[in-house]
Amino acid sequence: MPRWTDIVAGLPATVPFVGPETQERALGHAFAARLGANESVFGPSPNAVTAMTEAAAEVWKYGDPEGFELKTALARHHGVAPENIVLGEGIDGLLGLIARLVVAPGVPVVTSAGAYPTFNYQISGAGGIVHTVPYRDDAEDPDALLAKAKAVDAALVYLANPDNPMGSWLDAARIAALIDGLPDGALLCLDEAYCDFAPADAVPPLDMRSERVLRLRTFSKGYGLAGARIGYALGAAPVIAMFDRIRNHFGINRVAQAGALAALADQDYLARTVDKVAAARRELAAIGARHGVRALPSATNFVTFDCGRDGGFARRVVVELARRRVFVRMPFVAPEDRCIRVTAGRPGDLARLDAALPAALAAAGENVAG
Ligand SMILES: *Cc1c(COP(=O)(O)O)cnc(C)c1O
Repeated sequence: MPRWTDIVAGLPATVPFVGPETQERALGHAFAARLGANESVFGPSPNAVTAMTEAAAEVWKYGDPEGFELKTALARHHGVAPENIVLGEGIDGLLGLIARLVVAPGVPVVTSAGAYPTFNYQISGAGGIVHTVPYRDDAEDPDALLAKAKAVDAALVYLANPDNPMGSWLDAARIAALIDGLPDGALLCLDEAYCDFAPADAVPPLDMRSERVLRLRTFSKGYGLAGARIGYALGAAPVIAMFDRIRNHFGINRVAQAGALAALADQDYLARTVDKVAAARRELAAIGARHGVRALPSATNFVTFDCGRDGGFARRVVVELARRRVFVRMPFVAPEDRCIRVTAGRPGDLARLDAALPAALAAAGENVAG
């Protein structure tokens, strides 16, 4: 056998998310409504598709390792300098780089139990020790995160705002207080995958002087480019510069760079997507109300429904919906696992859910609407 590192040899064979394709192969049928991965079913801007089509013919060339054009455009868009930006293979790829930058074996990090699992996956892969605090009232709890970060002297703290899987959000003042209170040398990974959908007061102003926070953004959600694998981190220039020591310099493919550049330029399209998502959230809430499952408030492109019973019941609802060709997911940890999580879809997707949900709820136990 090769001489695996102790860290890798000791890892369980986990996958943060089982892909819908894997599930389709196991079920023996395709999903008719793909509402489980918070992709933008509304698709990317047609301008992005055109740009990527053109870039495809040039794909024999490596992508620009500096991502110069995209970083310049992002810098202008955010009112920061290109030195404040590093591109990554989505937020998931950036989390892996962040783990390599600050997590040596045994280094403590803090997140919420049941928060975005890819963070934990990357930390464990680097040998870090994940400490968790519970959610409070279905939201991440910055006071508890801070207290735990101090107690364990965390190198890294993770918070998604707005949150996945609950859809909840914290206002900018609470995020600012969290950043101010961090122990010396701790870095906050502020995952803003859903910021395009959030109310303005949930997104703190960008402060590129602070070396205590990295703001993680993606083209996967609002911009509809999940399969292109492109995202970025915003931070203080000296922090961003560290990524150059370990990043995969040709890792951001040129088709994705072209698509992201065109998507960013089409802010009207993004605004229309955000409107469609808001309408879909309202429709999802109405569907839930019809069938006796309550929609929690959401600042994201998904709605989390309280199924009113335990995790076992919600898990059966997810399975029964999959049998009816509707792909959804659910939180992993109690008590949030009493819920299912449904992506904002097109009218046809939502009609499928509306049709499948009563039978799925009935098959999962008893009809909670009764
Ligand atoms: C979807 C999601 C991501 C993944 O983003 P990519 O850029 O596609 O890797 C990261 N964080 C959260 C909280 C998400 O929901």
